[in-house]
Parts: sequence; structure tokens; C-alpha cells
Amino acid sequence: MTSMAKQALYGKTLLELQAIVDAHGLPPFTARQLAQWLYKSEVWSIDEMTNISKDNRSLLKASFDVGRCSPVKVQTSVDGTRKYLFSAGGDKYVETATIPDQDRLTVCVSTQVGCKMGCLFCMTGKQGFGGQLSAGEIVNQIRSIDNAAGVTNIVYMGMGEPLDNLNEVLRSIDILTAEWGYAMSPRRITVSTIGVLPAMKTFLDACECGLAISMHTPFEKERQQLMPAQMAWPLSRVLKEVRGFDFGRQRKLSFEYIVFAGLNDTPAHVKELARILNGIRSHINLIRFHAIPNSPLQTTDEGRLQQFKDAL
Ligand code: SF4
Repeated sequence: MTSMAKQALYGKTLLELQAIVDAHGLPPFTARQLAQWLYKSEVWSIDEMTNISKDNRSLLKASFDVGRCSPVKVQTSVDGTRKYLFSAGGDKYVETATIPDQDRLTVCVSTQVGCKMGCLFCMTGKQGFGGQLSAGEIVNQIRSIDNAAGVTNIVYMGMGEPLDNLNEVLRSIDILTAEWGYAMSPRRITVSTIGVLPAMKTFLDACECGLAISMHTPFEKERQQLMPAQMAWPLSRVLKEVRGFDFGRQRKLSFEYIVFAGLNDTPAHVKELARILNGIRSHINLIRFHAIPNSPLQTTDEGRLQQFKDAL
């Protein structure tokens, strides 16, 4: 994302900024000044960091730039959803979306270029994997959109499996929630996963953010057909992990459930869902499937979706 061989400062944690400051022989307090310029004042160039001496700025400019970037394309739908396309270097791009809902504005960020997981219902899965995004590239998607100031919630649900890029995802959360960073409440951040183990446990221990697990069906064989990753991380093991973790009263746990007509919206599914989730304090988010090319999966009609919801 950054020009030439320079490293981006945006996306560095306070600890990393301290290491950079030490390595360049700058006064220790410069690390906090850098964090302030990057995440509070949100400057786009080192030259704007006016309380750092000109000589020290030149020293930093030799190896670094800020590394922010604007979306290359923006598209607005009739329902107010906006889609942004960000460059991820070369001919690679990732998508970010904002979804308005009453007094909320949720931004949905990508964590990888493409995805390795190959879920049957997902266009990104069909693309294959094209690389990991850095923490800076993740946070930039949230802060470099036109309505960044209005964002109330963040979901890691765009392109890629977030827990397959755990380190950068955790670093981005650090920047978003730390007092030296954007100081956002982790309760406003939700990370979605198909249930990558043991990364899910590391994530739960490392931060306070909400967790959304993609379930899509309570039956393991059926889930394996929809999501090949079920082979590596079976739903039963994922749920066992969840049952063993203390979410406390505040932390959010939810299950994502894309409804496919005639496939996972039967009374048997309702019954099995109730059985396997018994005793787990959580929400189920029903999601309407938007048909994709060359896929046998069908979208449900409103009536059937409502019936399923009522039965649940
Ligand atoms: Fe698509 Fe998410 Fe599955 Fe990856 S894990 S293929 S992004 S649904």
C-alpha cells in the first residue's frame, strides 16, 4: 500500500512506534507524539507532525511514510449501503461496506485479499487467496472512508477469514481500542469466524470484542458441504470451546445463519439448533442469501424466512 520501499507508520502499535523511535535515536516521548498524529490528528504526511523537529522528521521520512490511502471507488445502493474498493497493492483490491441502520452506522471490513476457506455460497471463496492485509490496511478501511466520523460499529465480516490473519487482526483491534489509538469500546467491534481453532481461543483471551460464528446449519455433514473448513474445525469442537469460555454479561456472542431455500430452513433445523445451542447465551443472525452465479443455492422468500424466524 505504501509507495516505494517505505514502511507505513499507520498501523503501528505504540510499542512498535517506541521501537522505531529507539532505533532512530529519537527522544522516547516521540513515540506518543507519533501515535497522537497518526490516530488522533490523523495526518496523512510526516511533514504535518509539527511538534517533531524538522531534522527528526527528515530522519523518519527516509524510511517511513504515513501510508494512508483513499478508496479507489465508491458505490451507493438505494438502501443507503455504500461499498468502497481499496487497493491492496498491485492489481489486488479489497471491499469495505458501510451499512446504516437507524442511529447506527456499521462498517464491514476485509482482513484478507480473497480467502482460503472456499465456502460454497461465497464469491470471495471462489476467488481463492491473494494475501493477508496488515493492521494498517484494516484500520485504514475504517478511517479513510468519507463517513468515517459517523461510524458507530465495526464488523470484521468482509473478504477473508479474520482468524486466519489473527496477528494483524489483533493489532488492528489494539489500535482501535487503545487509549493511545482510537479509544473505541471493544463492545462496538465484532469479529466473524467460521471457527478457526485454536485461533478462536487466542482471540477470545486477547481482547473484549464480540464474536460471531458462521454456523449456517446445525448438521455437521451438511455444514461440511457448505463449508469445507468444517473438516478441520468441526462445529461440535467450536461449540465446546465456546461453552468452556466465560463471556461474562457484556460480551456478545452470535451465530450467523444464511438461510438457503429448502436447504437449511426446515423444522428439523430449528429443532437441532435449539438442541446444540441449549444453554449458550447468544443471538442468531438470520441472513438472506443473495444468489451468486453458478451456484445451486437459492434465496428464500420473505414468508419462509419469517416462518423460520418465528419457529426459532
Ligand atoms: Fe467467504 Fe468467509 Fe467462507 Fe472465506 S470464510 S470463503 S470470506 S464466507
